[in-house]
Amino acid sequence: VFVVFEGGEGAGKSTQVNRLADALRAEGRDVVVTREPGATDIGSRIRALVLDKEHGAGPSPRAEALLYAADRAHHVATVVRPALARGAVVISDRYVDSSLAYQGAGRTLPVQEISWLSSWATGGLKPDLVVLLDVDPGVGLSRVSARGAGADRLESESRGFHERVRYAFLDLAAADPKRYLVLDAARPAEQIAAAVSERLTPLLVA
Ligand code: C5P
Repeated sequence: VFVVFEGGEGAGKSTQVNRLADALRAEGRDVVVTREPGATDIGSRIRALVLDKEHGAGPSPRAEALLYAADRAHHVATVVRPALARGAVVISDRYVDSSLAYQGAGRTLPVQEISWLSSWATGGLKPDLVVLLDVDPGVGLSRVSARGAGADRLESESRGFHERVRYAFLDLAAADPKRYLVLDAARPAEQIAAAVSERLTPLLVA
């Protein structure tokens, strides 16, 4: 079973990924927690290229899209598919929808082209469930600034960029409600975790 958490900055994805993993491990399940970008050795080098300020202005939008796709192709081939093949529950912090939202809607590249690139990169692997933690960008960005890390880079993007990203995620969820669970990231973490478990339980074969 392949579960993905998506959402804007400061949505609380990593908290929920860890909560879900702990709950499933407590049931004795084989769980692999992973993320994009940067879950592999090659991926962490790609992550530095796209996200570290020391590399200057950062890649152009099409180069950025290809770098995320390369990270994802390697991640799927070397981490996600092998884990699914042995029957593990794979929980990923971000996947294809982040590219549709950030590189597509955010950077305004054609979303259809990003979708095509993503399915080529993944060989068509789709999650069984996508949990979208929806957050108002103002609230999310202030949570990130409070943490300090990465705040400069995120604040250098316009408010419009983060709004486009948010609505792209919501549109993807609305188009495929069977595969998505949309939750208000402002709700208490325990309530979010409970809603995720309730939705996931029927997907898990004992
Ligand atoms: O989820 P995490 O905070 O690790 O993501 C790092 C950053 O990478 C995010 O702030 C997001 O802006 C960016 N990102 C992106 N496109 C993706 C995935 C992540 O721009 N496909």
